[in-house]
Amino acid sequence: MGAVTALDDPLEPVLGAKSATALESALGLSTVGDLLRHYPRRYAERGELTDIAGLEVDEHVTVLAKVQRVSKRRMRNRPGSILEVRITDGKHDLTCAFFNQAWRERELLPERRGLFAGKVTAFRGQLQLSHPEYQLLEGDVDQAVVEEFAAALLPVYPSAQGLPSWSIARCVRQVLDIWDEPSDPLPDELRQRFSLAGLPDALRWIHRPDGWPAVQAARQRLKWDEALAVQLTLAQRRKLSGARPARPNPRRAGGILDAFDQRLPFALTDGQRAVGEDIAAELAGEHPMNRLLQGEVGSGKTVVALRAMLQVVDAGRQAAMLAPTEVLAAQHARSLREMLGDLAQGGELGGSELATRVALLTGSMPAAQRKQALLDVASGAAGIVVGTHALIQDRVSFAELGLVVVDEQHRFGVEQRDALRTRAGEDVSPHVLVMTATPIPRTVAMTVYGDLEVSALREMPAGRSPISTSVVPVAEKPAWLDRAWQRIREEVAAGHQAYVVCPRIGDDDSDVDVADADTDDTAGSARRGKSAKGAKSGKKAAKSSESDGDRRPPLAVTEVAALLAEGPLAGLRIGVLHGRLPADDKDAVMRAFAAGEVDVLVATTVVEVGVNVPNATVMAIMDAERFGVSQLHQLRGRVGRGSAPGLCLLVSEAPAGTASRERLDAVASTLDGFELARLDLELRREGDILGEAQSGRKSGLKMLSLLRDEDVIAEARQTAQQVVESDPELTRHQGLAAMVAELVDEDRAEYLEKT
Ligand code: ADP
Ligand code: MG
Repeated sequence: MGAVTALDDPLEPVLGAKSATALESALGLSTVGDLLRHYPRRYAERGELTDIAGLEVDEHVTVLAKVQRVSKRRMRNRPGSILEVRITDGKHDLTCAFFNQAWRERELLPERRGLFAGKVTAFRGQLQLSHPEYQLLEGDVDQAVVEEFAAALLPVYPSAQGLPSWSIARCVRQVLDIWDEPSDPLPDELRQRFSLAGLPDALRWIHRPDGWPAVQAARQRLKWDEALAVQLTLAQRRKLSGARPARPNPRRAGGILDAFDQRLPFALTDGQRAVGEDIAAELAGEHPMNRLLQGEVGSGKTVVALRAMLQVVDAGRQAAMLAPTEVLAAQHARSLREMLGDLAQGGELGGSELATRVALLTGSMPAAQRKQALLDVASGAAGIVVGTHALIQDRVSFAELGLVVVDEQHRFGVEQRDALRTRAGEDVSPHVLVMTATPIPRTVAMTVYGDLEVSALREMPAGRSPISTSVVPVAEKPAWLDRAWQRIREEVAAGHQAYVVCPRIGDDDSDVDVADADTDDTAGSARRGKSAKGAKSGKKAAKSSESDGDRRPPLAVTEVAALLAEGPLAGLRIGVLHGRLPADDKDAVMRAFAAGEVDVLVATTVVEVGVNVPNATVMAIMDAERFGVSQLHQLRGRVGRGSAPGLCLLVSEAPAGTASRERLDAVASTLDGFELARLDLELRREGDILGEAQSGRKSGLKMLSLLRDEDVIAEARQTAQQVVESDPELTRHQGLAAMVAELVDEDRAEYLEKT
């Protein structure tokens, strides 16, 4: 040990094999830089005990607490003893249990303070730390920890079983004692302009601050680096894709678009008209359009997209529309054909002279049908091609692809959009229009969609009906559930239709079908659903099981459909829709539902996006707390699409006062998608939003918050734009180029492979 050490040096020579291996296997940290970028999650202040009431079940935590009392008892059913140590923050307490370790009684003396680390569990309403590790700060203890603790702020690291926070702190200290301070990648000019700390100082202060001001300065600098790296990447992408040539599609008088406009049964809203003009101008340009169209569910995005596609068809090219699922692709194809009428009957008897064809192309189509569709696409007979993302990945050959429309895809990331841009030919890019119904907070627009121009449809077409939303709290008011089924019967009696949405498909517990498990809570339930496999007995499994807060598996489509058919909805025509049905069945069910031949559709989130059956007026979402905020908002947008008002019932067993319940109350209280998007952002881990490529463990965003750091992001965006304007390849900014490389490299390659 001892030589000066650079950031990309391995940890082993510095820390020894044992610590290096532990850091690598528990946290994936293998270089000096990795370790220094493993920032403390928070800091314990000298003299202040950790707030125990704020701990979350299932989290691995480190708490600073005081021993309150210790008791020993024999195990009831087997030999051995349990030492129960009650620790406290002065207000709340936590039990630590040690099996057959009675000797610990001698050091865990009442009133002694220490750090305790372990996973939080709940047992009979009482929080516990299971198998905790601890480090006492008084008595016969590790002097290094005590010294560290004598500092004003004690870093608390994200830790793992077997690698407590204080061990990480010790490793960091060892590294900081001998490291070779890295040179600062940020030019002095920028550092001064934004009053930022230097990188070596920032790294030192984040781990070993001498007070809160040092923490603040370090955080500000590290956030800035992250924001700038992201924004530089995006600015480069914008520059690069904007500079690529695209084929112009000027508007043509007397073409299919004009014919369509003449047949349109309604007037476009002002928003549709304005956005339409922007798009028309860009489609006519010689560089590719890269535009995001944001508009609430039902705001009429599809018409806007179709008009764009027709302009491209008028120019003799093709437009592809991508949907996230085959069900949606099929539905899009159907509704585009309907809207177009005889304008979609190209080459058929009775088709308009101007007509084109809409081809549907999905993986599970019968071979003959697929072959015909492929032919139509290759020959150019189909001006519009609808499919899933496989359409782009499968290298389907187009006659001349001019525009790609991506519908309703929150999971369609920056990388996939990049892949699209090479699909019109070697050196031309297609124009790209991405549509989303999820309102996008400004920070997200600047990051996740930072390579796109954003337009929005803010008004709803006239004649839209309101949607009202209520929470049905099954735990407190079981009778309300009966009332909910009653409401569905009433709607059906009045000639309307209903959705019942469940989180799981059924038959196989591993099939938790919450597509967008976007809260920790949901992921947790998925896990619990799996672990409870053995305990589940088929039917409703409604009794909440076992002692330690284990929950029953989420309700399943197949089971709920059967129960409803036998019980509360007996006599109604019930259909079932989920991702595991063969494509033909899915299509048949959707068709039947759209035709009014099915009264109640019991489904997973496959109905989340785009499904448009205006006669459906009520939706019951079962186990609603298992869905994310945005998802609930999307789901309820499926009702109230016709002239009758819509009703959405959020059925949940979550008790009043819990975070889950508050989330549902929030969804019920507002239809303001923007407000909900903010709430969602607050609840999601930010990595989920940025996509894995940009939240990678090693190089991603650790410090930057999309919720709180709008100012930093905006400044960094502007700065990045300026830098890239004058130095697109960053050849004169080597430090910045390295930052960008660090952000995008390996993780991105990995991500591209996965999708
Ligand atoms: P989105 O895709 O934004 O959720 P859609 O494009 O599916 O919304 O439109 C929802 C419904 O509203 C469709 O039935 C569509 O025909 C209708 N619609 C679209 N624009 C208008 C308009 N300007 N006036 C009246 N109805 C419209
Ligand atoms: Mg739509």
